[in-house]
Amino acid sequence: MEKRIETLTRWIAEAKHPVFFTGAGISTESGLPDFRGPDGLWTRQAKGLPPPKFDWSKAMPNQSHRAIVELQGMGRLAFLISQNVDNLHLKSGINPDLLAELHGNVTKLRCRGCGFKCDYFPDLTICPICGGKLAPSVVNFGDPLPEKDLEVAEWHSRKSDLFVVVGSSLVVFPAAEMPKIALQSGAKLVIINKEETPLDQLCHLRFSEKAGEVLPRVVAGLRELKANAGRAA
Ligand code: NAD
Repeated sequence: MEKRIETLTRWIAEAKHPVFFTGAGISTESGLPDFRGPDGLWTRQAKGLPPPKFDWSKAMPNQSHRAIVELQGMGRLAFLISQNVDNLHLKSGINPDLLAELHGNVTKLRCRGCGFKCDYFPDLTICPICGGKLAPSVVNFGDPLPEKDLEVAEWHSRKSDLFVVVGSSLVVFPAAEMPKIALQSGAKLVIINKEETPLDQLCHLRFSEKAGEVLPRVVAGLRELKANAGRAA
């Protein structure tokens, strides 16, 4: 584990265009269930168990969300692609310009005409930009993904030289195309996920530990590298 943490720290320090890609697994440590993990909504359903109780609005960012914000502060995050709808990346302080939320966000409305996004207000139904229909931004299964988010996510995946997956089973498409696009473009692929994914054989570095056991240590390592560089200068 120590060696893999050191490797990931070095790769993030050296990357020209580091891209992170998150799924429901990054938010389980905030008390939000994923779908396919051992205690996920679908895993429980398949066992005839009731869904766990949770409240999107009460969930708070955890140490992994905060670690990604620290990377942003260090200039070590070129872009963040998320499948999550829980708003925890924005709540943690991610710059909205560095984020594509491929499946929407429970706190946001989106214009079906021009793609304009704004905070949810019950009576707000008309887009102030184009007059189109404002509707909840969360993407339901089978619905198309928000065009602009998908386009920008593909662009950054293609440009990335380091692509880090955090907490995703990588089976929901087209989101799961992103790490494949990155691989095809020559990026190093890192997967931090408790359970197996279809890309495990192709990735360059694999963590089966919890995201919260990996990302804060990587950020601490980067801080140390920076301090050492400062002392040497
Ligand atoms: P998924 O449920 O298919 O997979 C989650 C993966 O995360 C699992 O493989 C699990 O082993 C892993 N995991 C769980 N906790 C972890 C941890 N602490 N550290 C590392 N790995 C951990 O989720 P997905 O791939 O994101 O795809 C499912 C879909 O579910 C997405 O479309 C997403 O929009 C939706 N969803 C979102 C939320 C959310 O916003 N928090 C919650 C449930 C589902």
